[in-house]
Amino acid sequence: MMDVLRPFDPWKSPLCTCPRKYSLHPYTGCSHLCLYCYATSYIGRKPSTIKRKFLQRLKKDLKRADPRIPVELSTSSDPYPPEELSLGITRESLELLRGEGFRVLITTKGVGFVRDEGLYQGVMVTITTLDKELASKLEPRAPSPDKRLDALSSIESRKGVRIDPIIPFLTDDIRSLKDLIKSVRDTGAEHIVFSTYKAKPDNFKRIVLAFPEMSELWRSLYYKEGERISGYRYLKAKLRYRILKPLVEETLRLGMTASVCREGFPDLLMAPSCDGTHLLF
Ligand code: SF4
Repeated sequence: MMDVLRPFDPWKSPLCTCPRKYSLHPYTGCSHLCLYCYATSYIGRKPSTIKRKFLQRLKKDLKRADPRIPVELSTSSDPYPPEELSLGITRESLELLRGEGFRVLITTKGVGFVRDEGLYQGVMVTITTLDKELASKLEPRAPSPDKRLDALSSIESRKGVRIDPIIPFLTDDIRSLKDLIKSVRDTGAEHIVFSTYKAKPDNFKRIVLAFPEMSELWRSLYYKEGERISGYRYLKAKLRYRILKPLVEETLRLGMTASVCREGFPDLLMAPSCDGTHLLF
C-alpha cells in the first residue's frame, strides 16, 4: 500500500481522461488561496504546510513504486507555494525521484520551478487570465500572470499551460482568451488544456462573495440550468462546448496541441494526453 506517492485519484470523476500516473503532494493546504480552488472542499482552506515526515514516507514508497509510471507534482495542492523558496521540500522530493529514474510533470501556479529546472521533464503552469487585477482577486497569493509567463519563457524544458478554470461571464471573453493563448505560444509552450469552472458549495460561496453582482446569473447557470456530475455543478453541456471549442481551435491554429479537462467532449481532446503527460516522453 502506497502512502504519499499514490496512484492518481480524480475523485471518482467519470469524465477524467488522464493517463495512468502517480500524484505526489509534499504540501497539504495551499498558500495561493485561489477563490475557485476545488481542493478546499476536501481538505479545507489553509496555508501550505509540509506533510508530516514527508521525505521519510516518500523514500519508503519509492522502494515499491514503478518508475515507468510518471509522477505529477501536484494535482490538488501547489508544489511551489511561496514557502517552497525557504523550505525546499519539493526540490528534495524531485531529487529523490530523479535518483530512482521517475519522470515528473510539474503542475503549478507558482514560478519556483525555474530554480529546479533539470529535476523534472515537463511543466504545466495554470493561468486563468492576463488581467492582473482580476487575477489578484481570484488568486490572491499566486504570482501575477505575467510573472508566470516570464517564468515559462525562461526555461528550456517541455511545457504547457492549463487555462483552468474558465469562469462564465468573468474570464471567458473570447478575445482576451485568444490573447492569452497567443502569449502562451510565445513562451515556447506546446500544449494547452482548458476547463470550465465547476462549482462546489464552498468555492461557489467564495466567488459569489467576491463578485456579488454575478450571483444571480451564476446561480441560474450552475444550479438551475446546469448539471450535476460526480459531486460538482457543471454548466450545461451546450454552453461548455460553446466556450471550449473555439479555444481548442485557436490553440491548434497556433501550432500547439489542445485538450479539455473533465468535460466529456472526445472531439476536443486534440493531444496525446489531456494533462500534458505526453510532454515527458
Ligand atoms: S494553486 Fe491550486 S491548489 Fe493552490 S489554492 Fe490555487 S487552485 Fe488551490
